[in-house]
Amino acid sequence: MPAENSTSPTGRPVVTRFAPSPTGALHIGGARTALFAWAFARKHQGRFILRIEDTDLKRSSPESTKGILRDLGWLGLFSDEGPKYPCGKHGCGCGKAVDDAGFDPYDRGRQLGDNGPYFQSQRAADGLYDRYVQVLLDAGKAYEDDGAVRFRMDKDIAFTDAVYGDITVKADDLEDFIIRKGADGGKLPTFHFAVVVDDALMEVTHVIRGQEHLTNTTKHAALYDTLAEVTGDAATWQRPVWVHTPSIMNPGGSKMSKRDKARFARDKAEEFLAKHPTREDGIAALCQMMPNAITATHVSDFLGKTTDSVLLASEIAGRLGFNLPEIEVRDFLVRGYLQSALLNYIALLGWNPGDDIEHFDLDFLCSKFSLERIGKSNSTFDRAKLKDFNAQAIRGLNFGKFVDRMTKYAEAYRPTWYSSKICKDVDKWQAFCGAVQERTHLLPDPFEANRFLLSDDELIEYDFTPKPIRKAMMGNDGQGVALLEEMLAAFESLPAEGFGAAAHETINALAEASGINMGKYAQPVRIAVSGGPVTPPIDVTLELLGKGATLARMRRCVDAAKAHLAAASG
Ligand code: GLU
Repeated sequence: MPAENSTSPTGRPVVTRFAPSPTGALHIGGARTALFAWAFARKHQGRFILRIEDTDLKRSSPESTKGILRDLGWLGLFSDEGPKYPCGKHGCGCGKAVDDAGFDPYDRGRQLGDNGPYFQSQRAADGLYDRYVQVLLDAGKAYEDDGAVRFRMDKDIAFTDAVYGDITVKADDLEDFIIRKGADGGKLPTFHFAVVVDDALMEVTHVIRGQEHLTNTTKHAALYDTLAEVTGDAATWQRPVWVHTPSIMNPGGSKMSKRDKARFARDKAEEFLAKHPTREDGIAALCQMMPNAITATHVSDFLGKTTDSVLLASEIAGRLGFNLPEIEVRDFLVRGYLQSALLNYIALLGWNPGDDIEHFDLDFLCSKFSLERIGKSNSTFDRAKLKDFNAQAIRGLNFGKFVDRMTKYAEAYRPTWYSSKICKDVDKWQAFCGAVQERTHLLPDPFEANRFLLSDDELIEYDFTPKPIRKAMMGNDGQGVALLEEMLAAFESLPAEGFGAAAHETINALAEASGINMGKYAQPVRIAVSGGPVTPPIDVTLELLGKGATLARMRRCVDAAKAHLAAASG
């Protein structure tokens, strides 16, 4: 029997849960917790529950709940019990998309499972927590305190965490704590109380969550024990196995948090300000770039850390042209990460399958996942490594899937591409995708790198000063320019139909006849059509552009290069 079962509650089928508070978007730490709980349930053919802990009325919002459901659906972490996910494109079968006005996550008719409702607000409305508050009050284990109800912490508490080991806290170091808030908290249960009641009633055997909850666990253990004692129902109130997962850190050593976006934007903004004679000038210049609604006071407050507004951070990022660090699951989707790469990478934050294995899929994870291999030490979130994982996952996609991902990405985030002739023409689109798949790290890479394909011919700019361009065009007494003219003459007579392949053959033939390396021909063509030295393969590139655009750009480039040569010699 695996060792984890020796600490698991006697013979009960494994039940795990993910219990987010809907106070913001699903971030990477939450996704990792959900993944571990999901994988552990899968490994043991158990159940995985999604429960929404929305008893903090001020901070919870339906939008956050919807976002969490959407993002879990995107990751493919479907639950066996809980509110159904909006299907959108994820195919859960509910027929609703998250933005659909008809999608109501709170709809009791849309919750799966026999242990519902799965929203704590609904459970509270049903009187589920009050019943146990009363049991504790009646037994003298809790008391009223200014409208709130407090639980007595009068015993030493010891518990074992599957990762952090044995933990004991003396009664002297413990304080009575609130289990039900007073009128201003809506008489709702506190997190500590609701989490215990729900985990017990939902028969949760393994509580997997972030280590920030480790110190809360003394309270939870005391509640389990006392409820077992006063109800006489030791089976229901049997302690679960607690599994606290190490934190996810930034490379600089701070805990990864949504505030990182503001920090990052602030640093970049400071760099921008430093380029101005005075700080005030810098702030004024920055404000000038921002929408009218953003004033110098907003910017100063942001720089002075009075606010960590993500909105301001994004505005600054947009204006100064940098990307904010990805923190929330949604950020990774938008930046062009694949679910498989993200899940693979985050599985390794705090866990590893041993044998130096790093690349795996969810089936492998579910077959191998074990609590023993969760480490105590915090993990560093390494974006470069994640990006490598993503590149590898993209290379590993079968071609049809890659085309599909690119199409969906373009549809959602690159409308200009999506409505372009290239994207609308099946052959062209496949040729483009085929040419870029190997080199793509993030889904938007090919769109960024190949803007020239959608650009008007007159907008391609030629700057002959960067070394690779200077060398290819001006080296050897302007050999590149001469070869470009030679190709231009030869291309004129080629048919428009199948132009890419024909042009490519022509280049080969010219190179063979002249004995000049084929690359010496290809490079000037790349520069002429794109303005830079890197393009997809020549035949694909020229086919996508077509004869007209190719020739127009080559002519413009020859003229510009000649003018450059003349200026240099004059
Ligand atoms: N609602 C809690 C949170 O989001 C859940 C903690 C737990 O998993 O017990 O942190």
